[in-house]
This record gives sequence, structure tokens and C-alpha cells, in this order.
Amino acid sequence: MIETTRPTPAVGGARTVVASGSLVRDATRVTLPGGLVLDDGRFLGEAELRPLSGYEEDWLASHPGVPSALATTYLLARCLISLDGVPGDRDLARRLLVGDRDFLMLQLRRITLGDRISAVLVCPGCQARMDVDLAVGEVPVECRPQGATWHVAELSDGPGRSRAVHFRLPNGADQEAVLGLDPQTAVGALLRRCLRDGGDAELAEGEKTGIANAMAELAPDLDLELELNCPECGEAFLAPFDTSAFFLDEMRVRGHQLLREVHALAFYYHWSESEILSLTRARRRAYLALLADALRPE
Ligand SMILES: [Zn+2]
Repeated sequence: MIETTRPTPAVGGARTVVASGSLVRDATRVTLPGGLVLDDGRFLGEAELRPLSGYEEDWLASHPGVPSALATTYLLARCLISLDGVPGDRDLARRLLVGDRDFLMLQLRRITLGDRISAVLVCPGCQARMDVDLAVGEVPVECRPQGATWHVAELSDGPGRSRAVHFRLPNGADQEAVLGLDPQTAVGALLRRCLRDGGDAELAEGEKTGIANAMAELAPDLDLELELNCPECGEAFLAPFDTSAFFLDEMRVRGHQLLREVHALAFYYHWSESEILSLTRARRRAYLALLADALRPE
């Protein structure tokens, strides 16, 4: 027999896990680069996050084709414990600005799997695969603390023709709403959703660009473009790096692998499935490593 401490049992999902303490030790506080302005004018910017547990991994494993925006909402609803005291849920996750959601996914990645990211990218010149190492802390973040939900842009559509258009910045609900549309339609639909009164006025192409530029200036953002040189052919290129999609991929263990890990721990430690799934991947794997050591023949 090997000696081990029994993790705090968790019943009934993530909220209880946090309250009972097994994961709260790993919770962390981060400041959103944008933040959320509520209808009553209150500003929410300090987020408390916990790492993914096996429950979230199990969900990801059983929803292999789910679009990134939906998976992000799901994970933030579960792992964002609170935002300046307001408990996290699906609604809150959807109201967060796109840049804040990306930022939180990056932080989830950091507290769940660590700061170092190792990715394999393909050179657009010679198709050679190359290893790229970066640190979560090195990703440049454009902080744009929000002062209001609505902004105004003075748009000009030809000489002497200008008007004021009220808009807000795109959030998670907008990302979800345009899922499945082709990119061109999605951009138009996203813009319309973000105009006050649903944007009943038709926008000229120049006006759309004007609003998109105004949005880009006001929105918090992660700069996820990597400047790379191919070690094979020497070509210099810029590679967009979608950390949220990458992280979702990293966390998406195959269902049968998670099942085997749960089985091994249940078999030897006699913990319940819910107890095992309440552990983070790091902790689950640490127990499995101890188990493998203990079971290794002399
Ligand atoms: Zn190359």
C-alpha cells in the first residue's frame, strides 16, 4: 500500500468543489484587460479563476466538435468563480468582451497546464514543422479598461454627410450568435448586433469599416501573432496563434483516456467518480504517477 492523503470529497459539481477547498487552493485572481460595465454603472474587473477539473475535461471529451465560442462560455461559466464579487455563470461569461474572454482562457491555460506553451507550427514556405515555445506571460495584452457600455462614432459617408452611430463592443453572446455564418455574413451580423437599436439604419461599406476601426481602438485585445523564422528555409512569417483554440485542443483528452485514468484511481484508491473528476488534471496525473511508482516491480 502507498500512503496518500484523500482529496476533499466533492459532491454536486464545481461550485461545491471550490467551497469545500480542494480546488480553491489553486484559484487565482487576475485583472481583466477590459472589464464589464453593468447597467447600473458598476465596473467589474477583478476575476477569480480556478483551473479546469476532470468534470470540464469530461465535457470537452464528450463534445468534440463544439465551436470554440461555446466551449469558452462553458469553461468560463464553470471556472470563473467570481468577477468583483458577482458569481460567474453562463450569462456573465457571455457578457464579457471578446478580448476579456481570450485573456481569461489564456489565464485558465496558465493555471491549469502551466506558463510554458509548446506548439508545433507549419512553415507556409516549405511546409516544415517547427517547435515553438512561448510563455503565457509573454503574450502582449492591450489593456483598455472600459468606462461605458456604449460608445459613439462620428461616421462620414462622403463630403458633408456625417452622422453619429452608437455602438458597443462585441462580447461572447455576439460570438455565439454568429456561429455557423460564413465569415462575410458573420462580420455584418456582428456589427448590426453591436449597434444601438439593433442598427436599423443601413450602413455603407465605409461606415462599417469606420465602426470596426473604432471598436478595435476601444477593445481590449491579445496580440497573438508570432514573428517566426523557419529554421529549414529561412522564410520569415507571421503566424496568428489562437490560444483559446489551442488550449481547448490541449485539454481535449480522448474520452477513453480520461475513463482509463478515472478507472485506475477508482480501482486502487476506491474514490468515487465524482471525487476523481473534481481533481485538476495535474493532480490526477500526479496521483497516477505515484501509483505507477508504487506498482512498479522491484
Ligand atoms: Zn520553411
